[in-house]
Order: sequence, then structure tokens, then C-alpha cells
Amino acid sequence: MAEPLQSDDLFGFLHVDLNSFFASVEQELHPEYRNRPLGVTATMADTGTLIAASYEAKALKIRTGTKVAEARQLCPDIVLVSSDHSVYAKFSHNITKAVERICPVAHNPSIDEMVCQLMGRERQPPNARRIALDIKQAIKDDVGSTLRCSIGMAPNRYLAKIASDMQKPDGLIGLLPSQLPRALAHLELRDLPGVGARTEARLNAKGITTMPQLLALDRAGMHKLMDSVWGDRMYHWLRGHDTGDDGAPVPSEIQKSLGHSHVLAPEHRTPEGAWAVAHKLLHKAAMRLRMEHFYTASLAVTIKYSLSRDQARSLGDCHPERSEGPAPAPAQARVRKHTSGITQTGWGMEARFQPAQDTLSLLAALQGCWKQAPNGPEHQKPFFVGVTMTKLIPEAEYQAGLFEEPGNRNQLSHTMDKLNLKYGHSTLHFAGMLPARDSAPTRIAFTQIPVQYGNDWM
Ligand SMILES: [Mg+2]
Repeated sequence: MAEPLQSDDLFGFLHVDLNSFFASVEQELHPEYRNRPLGVTATMADTGTLIAASYEAKALKIRTGTKVAEARQLCPDIVLVSSDHSVYAKFSHNITKAVERICPVAHNPSIDEMVCQLMGRERQPPNARRIALDIKQAIKDDVGSTLRCSIGMAPNRYLAKIASDMQKPDGLIGLLPSQLPRALAHLELRDLPGVGARTEARLNAKGITTMPQLLALDRAGMHKLMDSVWGDRMYHWLRGHDTGDDGAPVPSEIQKSLGHSHVLAPEHRTPEGAWAVAHKLLHKAAMRLRMEHFYTASLAVTIKYSLSRDQARSLGDCHPERSEGPAPAPAQARVRKHTSGITQTGWGMEARFQPAQDTLSLLAALQGCWKQAPNGPEHQKPFFVGVTMTKLIPEAEYQAGLFEEPGNRNQLSHTMDKLNLKYGHSTLHFAGMLPARDSAPTRIAFTQIPVQYGNDWM
């Protein structure tokens, strides 16, 4: 009999990591390569290196980074294939879709990794395990039978990634809070995400060469060891705390904007409904902004309206919306067919302001934009709204004190985030959100927002 589970022994995240991804895709596309040692290389020359190796090749000690010439020496029969990233990207997209059939993907840390955040009862270990097994099956059924993945289940993203690395191929490992941190004691320091050769050397120089030594440090000791707040974070992550800031930090050069858009349910296709949904999208984006540790200095709003045939014809003659107020971006009225077949016209504007990350300041910017929105007869049936924050500034670069902060808005926002994270997405919200509370897909809670960086459709 298994030990009875402790009631707070819950998982928060699943980390899905495809095994030998590029090599498996090649074996999927070419059945004649299956069950054979195979290497993928970007440069077929002898001096080139492998960027992926099949499990059959790995058994012969051929792995990512092995030189082509050396691979041929170790296995004269090895199948060598030139890499094709557009094919791998397509597979990655299809795998994400397969995973989403089971559980929404919150984050794609790389082309062969997907992170799902678990909610409510999904967090109970038997349910999380069921979801993980269903994900494996969905990938096989929808994308290809040769595609295997290792899944890690853990209370935070950092540990879920570690767990996904603990068993390969086709692994499924859970790290329960009650097993932490001792379940990590057998790892090497280098098994920890973020600990590369240089960090390892630094730790060794400070006398830390094993995981048990690292785990024996208290929080202050970890801070001193890493010489930064990373030490404090790592201290908490290794003990299964979900500090909400372990989302494999996205380099700021990729993250140029953050936002959400939504096609309105038919019952919300009114100016009031659109406002309520925009309000809700803003709230989600603002919370994400803070979780990802950014400030923003710009907010862009997009609204698309469906048109009757007569309206489309008269608007086709073009009468651009006039807008007033402080330097709004040029409003646009174009008649187009939406992909859904809806004849539409769109409007958008961008507001600039002093860097902010609190919901109230951002809401004021949204309201400012919204007042500029056209309200003629052809603008009564909004069917799409988008709210995007651009000009993101990493918190670290934001110089506190440089900008006056009205009231105590940041503190309030952080308190709301904490309550929302703890109790689910609709615990605390501003009144304007109420009509739209049930409109966004129910599985997409504030804490579980699909994020696609550098893309309008977030
Ligand atoms: Mg992988």
C-alpha cells in the first residue's frame, strides 16, 4: 500500500519535454529510419556537430554535440539527416495543440517543451497523473506514434522542469512537497536549470560541490552563495514553494509586448459587453505583467466591429473616424473580411504614459482609449477586442522613485494577485468585469494565460 497522501501534497505544474525531438520527427516522417541510430545536423560536413540524436544513437554514446565524423566512427551505419527547422516548428505547433486538447498550455519555454498549470482538482496527484498520461496518448494519436515525451509534475515550474529530466525516454516523475527537498539529493548541481559550467565552478569555489551541501544551506546562505536574489528564489523552489516568479524568465529582448484578445460571445457584442471584456482582458494582462516582472509605458486597444452589407458598402467609400483628445494614434476605418467571414471594420489606438504595472493606472489608460472609440451606427456590433501592452520595461531596469506613484496602487495590485493565485481567478476583481466573468473560456483563468511573446494574438 502506498503511503496516504498529505492533503497539501499537490502538483501545480506539468512540464512536457519531448524526447530526442528533432530525431523523433525525422523517424516519424521516415518510417525506414525508425529503430535505427540517427543523427540530425545543421552542417553535413565532417566538422559539423549533431543537434539531435535518436535514442538508438544515444545507446552508442552519440549525442547532441557529437561531431559528425565521430558519430560515423562510433556507428558507420548511422543515418545522418540535415535539419529542417520549419518542419520541427510545425510539429511543435501540432504537439502544443494535442496537449491543449487535454490541458491548456501556459508557456512554451522552447520548441520541444510545454508547461501546463494545473487548477483545482487537477492538482491532486492521481488526477495530475491521469492528465499526464492523456497528454502522452494525445501526442501519439494526433501527431505521431514515434513522438515520446517525459513529463514532470511538481508544485512549481522549476521543479516540474527538473522532474521532466529525471526519467528518459517516456518518463513520468512527480515531486511532491512532502518529499522535498530530499527527493533532489541524488542530483548533480548541473542538473539544476540555471546552473551551467560557470555557475558550477563558482559554487565549487565556495565549497559547494554536491546537492546535499546545497540543500543544507538556509535562505540567507543561498543568497550569499548566489550573490543575488536568485539564491533566495532557488531556496524556495527547491522546497516546492510556488513563488509565482519561476516561469523560466523570458529574455527581455524577446518580450516586446504582452496582452490578450478575445472574440466576443454573441451576447457580448454590444458596446457595454465589449467594455466588460476589455476590462477583464486588461486585468489579466496587468496581472501577467506583474508576474513576469515588467512595467509598461504603452497600452494599445483594438476593436473590430461587424457590419451589415449596407454599412460595409457606405464605409467602403471611406470616411475615417475622427478622434479627439491628446495625441491619439491615427484611428483607422477599413472594411475587411474577418477570417470568420464577418465583414468588419476596425479601430485601434495606443496610449502612452509613465511606466506602470498596477491595475488602476492601466485601467485609467484603457478608459482613456475607450473614450476615443467611435460610436457611430457602424460601431454598435463589436465582435473582437484586444488589449496589448507594449514598451515593456523589466522591473530591474525600472528605477523606483524616478516616477511618482499615486497612492498605493502597486501594493493593492500585488495583494489582489496573491488572492487570485490562491483562490482562483474570480475572487477579487473590479466591478466592471462582472458581466464578462464567464465569457472568456472557462479554463483560462488569470493564473493560466496562454502567452505568445512578440505576437499580437496573445
Ligand atoms: Mg527535449
